[in-house]
Amino acid sequence: MKPKEIFLAKLHRGPATRVATGSATSIVTTDLMEKIGVSFPDAHLKAPAMAALAATGHTLLGFDNVMPLYSVWHESAALGCQVDWGNIRRMPDGHPICTSISDSISIPADFLHHPGCQVPLDALKWLKKDLGEEVAVVGKVFGPWTLGYHVFGVEEFLASTLLEPDRVKHLLRQLIEVTVAFANAQIDSGADAITLGDHCTRDLCSPQIYRDFLAEIHHELHERIACPLILHICGDTADRLASIRTTGIECFHFDSKVPTAEARKLAGEKMALMGGTSNIALIRNGTPRDIVQDVNEKLAAGIDLIGPECAVPLDAPCENLQILSSAVKKFGRQ
Ligand SMILES: [Zn+2]
Repeated sequence: MKPKEIFLAKLHRGPATRVATGSATSIVTTDLMEKIGVSFPDAHLKAPAMAALAATGHTLLGFDNVMPLYSVWHESAALGCQVDWGNIRRMPDGHPICTSISDSISIPADFLHHPGCQVPLDALKWLKKDLGEEVAVVGKVFGPWTLGYHVFGVEEFLASTLLEPDRVKHLLRQLIEVTVAFANAQIDSGADAITLGDHCTRDLCSPQIYRDFLAEIHHELHERIACPLILHICGDTADRLASIRTTGIECFHFDSKVPTAEARKLAGEKMALMGGTSNIALIRNGTPRDIVQDVNEKLAAGIDLIGPECAVPLDAPCENLQILSSAVKKFGRQ
């Protein structure tokens, strides 16, 4: 089976010749950018640079997928957030558009043509053309909860979930349209699967709030986006994995704060699991032996797609990602 077939089979927990290896989030490190002479901010702002850097996820690091959206700010920039696109040692950062939850927002009719969206859409087309037969091309969008943080600021948005829940629900209904439109445009540009990032982890959102505000929204996104979804939520999600299961989303990209065996148990038989390898302890600071041992633990626990838990820290050595993907290919045969 080709890497693409293995990756897509494993997103559905289907049979394949081995376990998949890849990432739903950024695999970019400073040394990887230095190696190929393409770096931030160009790799956020110019489609050929973005595609060239994403391709190394397969050609240099050995993963079964490529994913060109390295930051969390693309669609938010298209909505009007001011974004500093970073540099070879720094990830982008952005600023809210509104100061109060009562401010009305309008979604620009042409936001998909703003460079924030257009550049990744073009990069996906390049990747599909160059590598699309061989590897899975994965896009990435943010859910309305994260977009709420970006548009209103984290504090204002979270305080409002308690003080003005109806207003927040109304805003989530408005912002869900951004997520759906950007995702479906990515599918039209060649994405085989899409990461759905939504930052509703335990320290920012209680399990009740997940149930009340978000489980339904994530279910609706699964219904309205016509490709397999990989839901990415950082941090400890053990207290909401049962609710996440009810959304019907194919795969959950989990953080090492959830112990692997517990994640497997909570995800049930149907939902695939991806990631779970600690970025700090292993990808940045681990020895080759530690990484191979972790891969074997993930294989024993029944993780379907093995790779880093979240965006790789820029100061990690990219060689550790090669060690991880090689170990999955060597020990993950089925
Ligand atoms: Zn994350």
